Amino acid sequence: MIFDVIIRDGQVVDGTGGPRFRKDVGLRGDTIAAVGDLSGAQAAKVVDAQGRVVSPGFIDMHNHFDQTILLYPAAQSALGQGITTAVTGQCGFSTAPLNEHYTACFWEWNWWDRVAPRKYYQEVVAELAKVKSAAKEVDGLDLNWSTFGQWIRRVEEARPGVNLVPLVGHSTVRTAVMGADYCRTATAAEVACMQRLVAEAMDDGAFGISNGMDYAPNAYCSPEESYALIGAAAGKGGFFSTHWRRTGLRQGFGNAGLVNGLKEAIDIAQKTGAKTQIAHLSPGYLISPSPTPRLATVAAEETLAVLDEAIKAGVDLAFDVIPNHLTGGVIHARHIAAALTPWFKEAGSLERFGQSLAAPDLRSEIRDYILSGKWYGLNPILQPGWAGTIVVGNTSVKEYAGKSIAELAASAGQHPLDTLMDVIVKDPHATRAEPSAQPDELKRVFYGHPLATVGIDTFLVDHTAGSSVPPYYLPNPNSFGGMARFIKLYAVGMLGLEEGIRRLTGLPAARLGLGDRGIIAEGKKADLVVFCPETVQDKATSEEPRQYPEGFAWVFVNGRAAMENGTLAPAGSGRVLPRQA
Ligand SMILES: [Zn+2]
Repeated sequence: MIFDVIIRDGQVVDGTGGPRFRKDVGLRGDTIAAVGDLSGAQAAKVVDAQGRVVSPGFIDMHNHFDQTILLYPAAQSALGQGITTAVTGQCGFSTAPLNEHYTACFWEWNWWDRVAPRKYYQEVVAELAKVKSAAKEVDGLDLNWSTFGQWIRRVEEARPGVNLVPLVGHSTVRTAVMGADYCRTATAAEVACMQRLVAEAMDDGAFGISNGMDYAPNAYCSPEESYALIGAAAGKGGFFSTHWRRTGLRQGFGNAGLVNGLKEAIDIAQKTGAKTQIAHLSPGYLISPSPTPRLATVAAEETLAVLDEAIKAGVDLAFDVIPNHLTGGVIHARHIAAALTPWFKEAGSLERFGQSLAAPDLRSEIRDYILSGKWYGLNPILQPGWAGTIVVGNTSVKEYAGKSIAELAASAGQHPLDTLMDVIVKDPHATRAEPSAQPDELKRVFYGHPLATVGIDTFLVDHTAGSSVPPYYLPNPNSFGGMARFIKLYAVGMLGLEEGIRRLTGLPAARLGLGDRGIIAEGKKADLVVFCPETVQDKATSEEPRQYPEGFAWVFVNGRAAMENGTLAPAGSGRVLPRQA
């Protein structure tokens, strides 16, 4: 027998959750051609997997790779952690369809100020023409598509490193129809128009739909608009991923009613019959000050109880959880100064911000603005315990290191906002401390649920990605290390490797209806990872998130090696996956 690749002597963890077994895996073209004793067979490439695990490629259930796949088509940050398939177009944001306006999605960090200059709250919808010229000028990116199908062809031409499962976003569709006039209920005619765009995107290759109830313009929709759009996707067999209303900033329920956002998502799932994924699950109950492990456990259990009750009543629900670096999110700002972003931006640099904060009138201006709850980035009304959550990391001022703003304020007998500003004046370069490397109770409870999968909720980036203007955003540490973190803390550390791998492979594939992926068996597509679970280690930190994890040796995407013996070897063998019946 002759194969293109034989992976010899590995411990196969096949993605079903069943116990590992020692077998060879033979690949031919993009397919797993044999699993068994292939000692008599030959291959052009032989991978020695002795002492290592061979598993299906990881499926990231929630991320924003579609936003930057044309900037980083090689998909290094994903492949470096074993991701071979990604569900994109999340939180209501997709890259298509585009009409006359465009919705910002955060990756525009170097040029959105040109398009929509604002000191405090940036306008998120802008004219497409302006956006196109800024994207071209700064990032060299041509936004030269309008339909979902055109965008898919652009991505395929760029030879993506990973497979994409693209959703169409509710916000994106709303912008295509309502443009900049979105802070209102849509008319019946507009809803019909949006519905048509969703149906077109589905016919063009979208896998389903996502929404983002915390974000404009999605946040302004009526329940009827949600039913209409999600229903249009579900009617064509589409999957629904929902960023449920949880921050309560715009049209929300506030902290006291947090769990109602989850109930709203369940209502949409129920009314439309959509196969629904609750995205990046977090507790439906906010506890302040920071809860003890026991309280956090109860909040997580009660949140799951809401989902379980709906599941019992027949709603088709599952959920994904971010593997816990910081609070998740696509971007990350490491400096303490970023807590005061509007004024940091205005100053233009860390040094000048430190200098300007010595001015008493600027300080009182900032204090008034923040204390009245006007700045969402630091809102003492919604988050009374904020000062305890900002801990100083690297700093030239020894007595600050490792202390929270609350502690420093107490010992100085000061208001925490004054302490925060003092820290920036004394050391504008001071960073926020690394969060605990321990698994937290919340995630333990969530990942303990049999329907929990993993979403890293980040962009595709490379090791140089970051914004060049204040607050100097970096990629979130999960961009490079999320899956490694999950494997170490929650697969090996809690669920057991076989079950942990099932959460990354067989379970999400089944949920998405990807019948030919997620499991190692003859005839399945050859998306594979060869790694050493005991040595898998997330290296991405808050200070320097752009670091690849350790422990991964080989990654195959559709039969082609994208990592060889620990070195990334971009093969561009990913595809935009079609919906399967
Ligand atoms: Zn989201």
